[in-house]
Amino acid sequence: MTDVGFSCGCGTLKGIVQDASPRSSCHLVCYCRDCRAFARHLGQVDKLEPGGGSPLVQVLPAKIEITQGADQIACLRLSPKGLHRWYAACCNTPLANTVGSPKVPLAGMWRPQFARHDAFGPVVTNGFTKAALPGGPRRDKGLVRMLGGLVRRSLSAYLNGSVRQNPFFDAAGAPVVQPVLISAEDRAAAYRD
Ligand SMILES: [Zn+2]
Ligand SMILES: [Zn+2]
Repeated sequence: MTDVGFSCGCGTLKGIVQDASPRSSCHLVCYCRDCRAFARHLGQVDKLEPGGGSPLVQVLPAKIEITQGADQIACLRLSPKGLHRWYAACCNTPLANTVGSPKVPLAGMWRPQFARHDAFGPVVTNGFTKAALPGGPRRDKGLVRMLGGLVRRSLSAYLNGSVRQNPFFDAAGAPVVQPVLISAEDRAAAYRD
């Protein structure tokens, strides 16, 4: 079990993921258009995998500790029902995707913010490959494993009480900063594949 450090592009926001291991995480590439639009909106398209996939590491939010620059945490949504997409406002580095409630203890962390990510093991899941651009994989893989890990980790978080620890939501379950819905114009630009 290792602690793995992460940092936004300019180094203002830093943190660690505790107890990183392949079992405590799911290393995936998501080819969905929403994740790609988020990366494009923040000017991070060059960090995508071939085929326009977003490299992510799903972990329990309780394992994430922001050690500096927490005041830079910002949140946007691509649509009114979209995920909460957290990023560092100082330099537009994606941090993580979550649903709108800490009751689902899941954060899909943007992998490029980790200087080293070998502790998470290799990519085990490719999701939404139907939406991949040319050059991406043609078939999804590892979705059952991903869901199994999600259920297993969520149960453990509820059982040990750590479900209440979350860097993106306060004790009452409210987001630490108010998510901002992007404009229709920005949305059109972000989804232009
Ligand atoms: Zn930064
Ligand atoms: Zn996605």
